[in-house]
Amino acid sequence: MTPRSVVDLHLHSSASDGVLDPVSLVAHVAGCGVRLMALTDHDTVAGLEDAAAATRALGIVFVAGVELSVDWRGRTLHVLGLAIDPRAAVLVRGLRRLQELRSLRAERIASGLASAGAPGREALTMVRTVGRLPTRMHFARALVALGAAPDVATAFDRWLGRGRPGHVATEWPSLAEATGWVAAAGGAPVIAHPMRYPLSAGARRELCAEFAASGGRAIEVITGGGGIRDRDQAVSLAVRSGLDGSVGSDFHDPAIPWNPPGRLAKLPGSVRPVWSGPPFPAFETDAEPA
Ligand code: AMP
Ligand code: MN
Ligand code: MN
Ligand code: MN
Repeated sequence: MTPRSVVDLHLHSSASDGVLDPVSLVAHVAGCGVRLMALTDHDTVAGLEDAAAATRALGIVFVAGVELSVDWRGRTLHVLGLAIDPRAAVLVRGLRRLQELRSLRAERIASGLASAGAPGREALTMVRTVGRLPTRMHFARALVALGAAPDVATAFDRWLGRGRPGHVATEWPSLAEATGWVAAAGGAPVIAHPMRYPLSAGARRELCAEFAASGGRAIEVITGGGGIRDRDQAVSLAVRSGLDGSVGSDFHDPAIPWNPPGRLAKLPGSVRPVWSGPPFPAFETDAEPA
């Protein structure tokens, strides 16, 4: 049976690289049976106000969120800030820095693509028109539209993935710094999709231990597309490092049928749900279907 969760704390709108605008996203999420949702766009909080208003009309409980790009030991990782105050000065400053980095990076991605013979300048023009916040996903879609790749996955393989011409090193803020911004905004810092990073088991344990020591609250134990083995490993990581668990689909696009909002397994009883207390709004998880 397809697992279903009424909680989904990792979703993207067109404020970053999601396809649906915040209001359409909320309607879609509600249609999928989700009752507690977080909007977590990459490095921006621009969609939160519209999404929050839309949830009020539909009776969904809304959590203000963001997905921050961070550096840990030379790798890019993602930290979710959940139940944040998006107006907190420290966070606003941090987001401004991330947005500047992304804007400069987009120029460098375009140059890298152009020097490898891809339509980098044309892609940049498209990225600047469609996206308020430039991501590699926007470049991937532009490259597909320009005929430089048949689909987004190939665009990453050919042009934008690690070691490809459109992949540029970026000095994201450190994990500890970004964790501090989330904490300063009253939110819960959560490591997104912890099993997706190419880290050894030992490095992953060190990551979680360091994260917990610097104020991290949880790791995403249940994530869209993750298998049972990933889940089991994430559970033991959470238990071992004393971190709570979160669940999130990382939904971007309704045209991708294998990762809809809320198609998520239950958090195992050995892990405490990150949303079960402050700073999260009250929500009765027992309402979850069996
Ligand atoms: P960025 O944060 O600008 O590096 O863009 C990363 C985003 O691109 C991720 O959040 C995913 O949504 C998407 N992405 C990364 N790698 C792939 C891939 N191999 N295939 C499809 N989408 C990807
Ligand atoms: Mn994304
Ligand atoms: Mn991510
Ligand atoms: Mn995401």
